[in-house]
Amino acid sequence: MDLLPILRDLQATLDYLRTIERDLAALPPDLAALDTRLKSLAKQGTDKAKALESARVQIQTRSKDLAAAQKEEERARTALKATSQKVHYTAAIRELDEKERQKAQIAKPLKALETQAEALEAALAALESERAGLQAQFDELHAVFLEEHGNQVAARTQLLAKQAELEAHLPEAERTRFHRLLGGRQGKALAAVENGACTGCRVKLRGPYLSALREAKEILACESCQRILFLP
Ligand SMILES: [Zn+2]
Repeated sequence: MDLLPILRDLQATLDYLRTIERDLAALPPDLAALDTRLKSLAKQGTDKAKALESARVQIQTRSKDLAAAQKEEERARTALKATSQKVHYTAAIRELDEKERQKAQIAKPLKALETQAEALEAALAALESERAGLQAQFDELHAVFLEEHGNQVAARTQLLAKQAELEAHLPEAERTRFHRLLGGRQGKALAAVENGACTGCRVKLRGPYLSALREAKEILACESCQRILFLP
């Protein structure tokens, strides 16, 4: 099966699809404003969720430290109670004081972290509620917009189906190469040859290469930009 016509058809399909996507992405001002706001809320949400996650990790570590310090403190208290000799008593009190101080040193920043995590949770809930409200507004207006652009929506559905069908006819390697070129060559995987030059990069083709292309025995790529060449 000759692949070149399929590739050309696929490129044309994607070109058309791109213009339709552009039309459908060109939102009216009210929708565009909502879209911008939604994106900003999503970004804020991600940032806050990250901060919350980090606070939670720290809380977990410090809670373990606090539990260990608590045990130390209890041990010192028990030791104090068991001390009967006055000479050991002062040392035991000092030990307990020290353990209490150490525990407080862990407890204070832990409390601050917990307060911070609670504030972040509240902020996230507020963001989510605002986002949900705006999203509902956006969806409603967007549905109207899509209804007004019914022709483009229908065309997009058809073009996507055509793209899938055409790609199904391509061997895996060819499909991969095509998409790699699309990505790396501004959406143009193919280039016509005009006046002996590739229209993709304007480089003149070598004579034998041009003859090979005319004989069209195999798919040839531009030696300069690697786009798949065809003669219009
Ligand atoms: Zn080229």
